[in-house]
Order: sequence, then structure tokens, then C-alpha cells
Amino acid sequence: MDENKRLGIMRFVLKQTRTQRYWALVLSALMLALVYLLVYATGGTHQAYLHAMYIPVVLIAVIFGLPGGVLVGVVAGVVLGPFMPLNVAEGVPQETVNWLFRSVYFIGVGALVGSIMDQARRQYRRIDELHTTNSETGLPNYQKYLTRFNENEIDEADVSISIIVNNYEDIVVLVGRAMYATLMQDIHRRVNNVIENYDVYQVDARKLWLETDNDTFKNRFNTLIELFAQAVFTINSVPMYVDISFGVYLKDDNDFTRLDAFRASEMAALHAKKNQLKYAIYQSDFAYPQHNLEQLGSLPLAIENGELFLEYQPIINLKNNDVVGLEALVRWNKDGEIIAPLDFIPLAEETKIIDSITDWIVTQVIEDYPNVTQGRDLIIHLNVSQRNLHNPVLIESMLDKIKKANYHRKAIGIEMTESTIMLNLNLSRALLETLRKEGIPMSIDDFGVGYSTFSCLYELPVERLKIDRQFVMDMFDNQGAKHLITVIIDFAHKLGIQVIAEGIETEKQERALKARGCDFGQGFYYAKPMSAKRFTAWLVARETA
Ligand code: C2E
Ligand code: MG
Ligand code: MG
Repeated sequence: MDENKRLGIMRFVLKQTRTQRYWALVLSALMLALVYLLVYATGGTHQAYLHAMYIPVVLIAVIFGLPGGVLVGVVAGVVLGPFMPLNVAEGVPQETVNWLFRSVYFIGVGALVGSIMDQARRQYRRIDELHTTNSETGLPNYQKYLTRFNENEIDEADVSISIIVNNYEDIVVLVGRAMYATLMQDIHRRVNNVIENYDVYQVDARKLWLETDNDTFKNRFNTLIELFAQAVFTINSVPMYVDISFGVYLKDDNDFTRLDAFRASEMAALHAKKNQLKYAIYQSDFAYPQHNLEQLGSLPLAIENGELFLEYQPIINLKNNDVVGLEALVRWNKDGEIIAPLDFIPLAEETKIIDSITDWIVTQVIEDYPNVTQGRDLIIHLNVSQRNLHNPVLIESMLDKIKKANYHRKAIGIEMTESTIMLNLNLSRALLETLRKEGIPMSIDDFGVGYSTFSCLYELPVERLKIDRQFVMDMFDNQGAKHLITVIIDFAHKLGIQVIAEGIETEKQERALKARGCDFGQGFYYAKPMSAKRFTAWLVARETA
């Protein structure tokens, strides 16, 4: 018997519908009558046929538990009691003690089976509850959704809504998971205060899915949005900025499945975020939800079919204009269309595919190294994803490959974003220690966005940090950005960490960064990312110019 069938039977035994219980009751009543007739027809209670009575007793006890078991025991005792002769042919009646004693047996068996079933049912309910609710917030989870609806079920709800907490990581880092859970409950409370008819599922840490009907949506949605527009939530008496996106999918003629409908509402939420709207209603020109899945499906093959390729972008020493290194950036040639990393890396990060991608990149960088650098003492930076940290085998094989390649000590370096490090501080610290032991240089990527790792900088063994290009872009329009750049450079230098500015596009930016003592620069002002071959040509041309 396969596992699903077994589970199906178990569920049937432990949890019946109203109709099933009704029919079980009718069937048992019928059986009670049949056993009466059987015992009477076979000559009375001196024959063994009366034991057939245990069948309806057990059946009722299984379905109705302890009270049902006791009650059916009493009924069964009476059915085979004073009105049933000991011997029908000879007209011998039963002694009272005889049928009373038998009744005690029936009641005992009914009670025993009933209480065992009650206990089992309680356990089942507990397990079911644990399985289908989010343990931190107590809200129904994705599993709950799956037990209620088939994944491929056509959408029946009028309106599907996604509520996404965009700055989830920031909040968790700041206040911890437990406090974040109370925030999620608070978000749900706001929904609950405004709308009555809805189903809610917390599908992952940052996402709520709601389903409701048209009337509720029309009457209450504006109030709901207004309520969330005050994005400040108070957690533990601390007011916190919570960046929430709303997306709505209104049922139309599409034959969307329920899951598609939710995905469509997520697409709408992303659209809202991108366009700084309070919310967005899904339109068919938003990417079709299936699109991502298709892309994800073809990713593993992309590696096998050699559709991934690397481009290299130089890193320049701002003190003497020398090229000191380069960053390897991955791209995907999908049927002639070049897909940027931000369009597939986050997708790959949702699955194990990211490990194969990083593994491929390491191998490729090692292979490209001699061609790209042409004997020069350059460092190639490669990007490691947050998810990669969870795979020690990958990390070990990565280090092993780098060691075996036997290039100079600082030939290959690793970049990890600041958010990656902060999200898994312990894992990151362990990796950074290993890298330090192996002498592999480590840079913090995208420094300054989202988190402030200043306090951690001094305890992490990093060689370089890269100021996020957003700050470089904003430095002449925004005093804050300019000051922050100055502070980051000074602070890093005090700790012996070198600074790379990302996204330098103009001479003016370069000059300002040089003036602030920034060590290195990277950006379109020097060169866009290019193939290994073009990089070498670019390098030679630059040196001979
Ligand atoms: P990143 O690591 O911060 O890479 C720098 C990004 O900035 C690159 O975008 C680069 O092309 C772009 N860039 C460089 N100079 C300029 C400039 O002057 N102006 C502007 N506007 N952009 C500039 P790209 O190649 O699209 O990569 C985006 C992100 O994707 C990377 O950000 C990195 O986080 C990720 N990524 C790229 N390759 C890989 C990879 O091999 N593995 C992993 N895990 N992530 C990767
Ligand atoms: Mg990078
Ligand atoms: Mg970066």
C-alpha cells in the first residue's frame, strides 16, 4: 500500500465528515438489529453468535469515541438482554446476572476502544495543527493551504491578495525572530479588524496570502490600505518602519489555478514596490507567474548546456590608476537572449541550483585566470551567495579547487554581500575564518545598504569592503550619502580594511572618491563587464596607451 493510501485510511479513521458519521450511525443501528435477529434465529444467547455484537460496538466506539462507546455498550447489552431467551426453542429465559454481566463487557470494550480513539484523535489534531500552522505566529501556513486545496485546483476565490514584508531581514536582524513574529501577528490583526470574510495563510516568513470575496474587497480594501500606509508598527515599545507591499489579483476569465492566482498577486505586490505604489492590481502584462517556474526549470540544463558565461569588470587602484583586479559576473545566454544575474540568481537562490552555479563559476574563474591575467598579479573576485554558506561540501570543494590551481596567494578572492553576512553571522564568521586561514581575500559587497555592519567590521577578518554603488550615484545630490562614504572610508582604514567604490560612472565621482582616500574603484567609467577575451585586449590597450 502506498504512503498516500495509508494516510488516507488513517485520516478516514480519525476524522470523518458529518455525512460519514451519519451513515456509520445508520449502519451500526442496522447491525444491532441484524445481530438481534441472528442470535434469535440461531436459538438464543447460549450460542456463540452473540459475539457478533462486538462489531457495531467497536464501530460506534471508533467513530464516536468514549461517550459513543459507552452508550452503544448499554444499547447492545439491552438488545441481547431481558427480551432475548437463553434458549428460544425451549423457551428458557436468561438470568438477569447473565445479561447484566455481558452488558458490562460490551460497555467495557466500547469505553476502551472509544477512549483509545479519543486519545489518538487528540494526538492527530495536535500533529495536524503543528504541521499546518506557523509555529512562531500561529497563523495557518502553506501546508494548511495545501491540505485545503489541491495545487492545481482552479481558482474559485474572487480576490487573492499578497502582503509582503520587504524589509524582513532588517527587522529580524534588529529585533530578532520572536519580535518579528509579533509584528506578523499585528499585521494580521490589522487585517482582521477591517475585513471579516477571508482566509489567510502565512506562506513564508515574509508573506501573507489572503482570499476574500468581491464585496469585502470593494467595501474594505481602501480602509485596509490606509491602515497599512502608516508603515510604522510598534514592537516592544519601539516604533519600527515596516516596508509592506500589497498585490491584488481579481478573478477574471483566466483559467488560473489557485496557486497561479496567488502568484499573480505576488507579481502585483512586486510591481507596486518597484513603482512605489501603495498597491497594484495584477494585469496580464506583468510577467506571467509561470514564467519564473519555466526559467527555474531550465536553469540546471543551462549549466550542463554551457549557457552560462562570465564577464569580467576591472577594479582600478585609485592611487596610481593601475588595474589591480577584476570581478567575475555571471550571465545566462538563454536562446540568444542574455539574462542578467539579478533576473535569475535570486530565483536560483530559492533552490539548490545556486550551489551548482557557484561551483561552475569557481571552476570557470580558475580556468580563465591565466588567459585573463596574462601573467599579471591580478585578483579575481567572485560572488558567493547566502545559500552557499549552508553547504559545507561546496565551500570545501571551492577552497580545494582554488588551492589546487596553485596560482599566487591572492589570485582569487570572494565577495559576500553585507546582508548575507549579517543574516548568517555565525556561518559567515566560520567561513571567513577558514578563508583567512587559507589566505583567500574576502570583500564585503554592497556595503551600506540595509544594514550597518560597522560594529561587526572590527571582528570580521575582511580585507576589503565595497561601497554600494547607490551611495556613489547619490553622492552629489545627497549630503547624507557623501558623509556616509567619508565615514565608511575613514572607519575602514582605521581597521586596516581597504575600500572599493562600486559604480563609478564619471570623472567627477572618481575625483571626489580619490579626495576622500578611497583605495579602489570599479564602474562603467573604466569599463563595463566584458568577456575574458575582450578584457585581455582592453588591458593590453590600456597599458600601451
Ligand atoms: P555586484 O556583485 O554588486 O556586482 C556589481 C554590479 O554592478 C554588476 O551588475 C555590474 O555590472 C554593475 N556595475 C558595475 N559598474 C557599474 C556602473 O558604473 N554603473 C552601474 N549602473 N552598474 C555598474 P550585474 O553584473 O548585473 O550583477 C548584479 C549582481 O548580481 C551582482 O552585484 C551580484 O550581487 C550578482 N551576481 C553577479 N554575478 C554573480 C555570481 O556569479 N554569483 C552570485 N551569487 N551573484 C552574482
Ligand atoms: Mg559583487
Ligand atoms: Mg556590489
